[in-house]
Amino acid sequence: MSLNETSQKIIAINAGSSSLKFQLFSMPDEVSLCQGLVERIGLADAIFTMKFNGQKVSKTISIANHQQAVDMLLTSLIEYRIVADLKEIQGVGHRVAHGGEYFPDSAIINDDTIEKITRLSDLAPLHNPVNLTGIHAFKQALPDAKAVAVFDTSFHQTMAKPDYIYPIPYEYYRKHGIRRYGFHGTSHKYVANHYAEMIGKPIADLNLITCHLGNGSSICAIKGGESVHTSMGFTPLAGVMMGTRCGDIDPSILPFLAEKESLTLSQLNEMMNSRSGFLGVSELSHDCRDIQQASKTNQQAKLALDMFVERVRAYVGQYLVKLGRVDAILFTGGIGENSTDIRESVCCSLEPLGIFVDVNKNRSKSTIFSTQESSISLAVIETNEELMIAKDVMRVSL
Ligand code: ADP
Repeated sequence: MSLNETSQKIIAINAGSSSLKFQLFSMPDEVSLCQGLVERIGLADAIFTMKFNGQKVSKTISIANHQQAVDMLLTSLIEYRIVADLKEIQGVGHRVAHGGEYFPDSAIINDDTIEKITRLSDLAPLHNPVNLTGIHAFKQALPDAKAVAVFDTSFHQTMAKPDYIYPIPYEYYRKHGIRRYGFHGTSHKYVANHYAEMIGKPIADLNLITCHLGNGSSICAIKGGESVHTSMGFTPLAGVMMGTRCGDIDPSILPFLAEKESLTLSQLNEMMNSRSGFLGVSELSHDCRDIQQASKTNQQAKLALDMFVERVRAYVGQYLVKLGRVDAILFTGGIGENSTDIRESVCCSLEPLGIFVDVNKNRSKSTIFSTQESSISLAVIETNEELMIAKDVMRVSL
């Protein structure tokens, strides 16, 4: 695709506690010019990797903080002639974990936005502060570029109150904002819109169930392009079982374990977030590929796999009821895009509901893998959160 004359360079940023992922696009052409990752920020042997024009560069170098990581990435863009001048980068889109009820959409970053993201750090202590670090680092390096925050939660702000209030004393919602927020919104939105474009129908006419299955997994019910329910909740711990996260469990297990095992709140939190899911049940690995391989001979790995599939199916069932009419079930994320077996297991035996899997199409990695007779289409859509972020920078800041 040739870059048109009015094209702009927009960079999408995903800052983690010790990492920074980036992708530079030419927009609106949606051409990816380069992408990369800085890992192990804060250490003497941090790793910088960048791919562009079919080339890959990788360096091990000391990077003390996010500001240095940003400076390094910008210097590399010049060094490898991806841009001639940093002023060519006209927009920066930052992935931000939590937008609370303040942000039903992506937002231009100004003092008010920063103040609200800071206030929301209470709800996302591991993510919002590092997202802010990325925002400040780019503000310093590219003061003239338009900066936009794209929140994981925004897409789900269309949920109705009965779907986002928890049945605990209402005062906790009032006082602390305890409610379902949902996450992975950028991915669910991208996948739903991409599918609509692909089949040439307006998103407003479609009811979809999107299954983002990766290390973190969530399912979303989307009516006419709006999220009406999603499996993650107050935090990304809720919903289906994941790589190391437990998903939904009986909350009474926590006080019980606190007493029996003398566990503190932070130990319980660590158990649910880092020692559960595939890892906790299999006692082998958090990685789905390892679990699939081990399940051929190891009963606990097979149990973990069966539990994952059943939990995904339970949400699909719930959302079939919620939406009434469903046009398609879409699979994305590392597991959703790559595991033919899990897609097949999730969608099998649903013929009474009008869902028919074409096993050959599924195994041959065809995008649509339902049969002609299926009244609900089944499709694999590769997610692209970075492109969605770049698109939002264009939409919000123009
Ligand atoms: P994250 O949530 O961190 O973005 P990804 O979406 O990259 O994670 O998904 C990672 C998961 O995808 C891992 O559990 C990995 O094992 C799984 N995965 C990747 N390829 C395959 C495959 N071919 N078959 C099964 N699982 C796969």
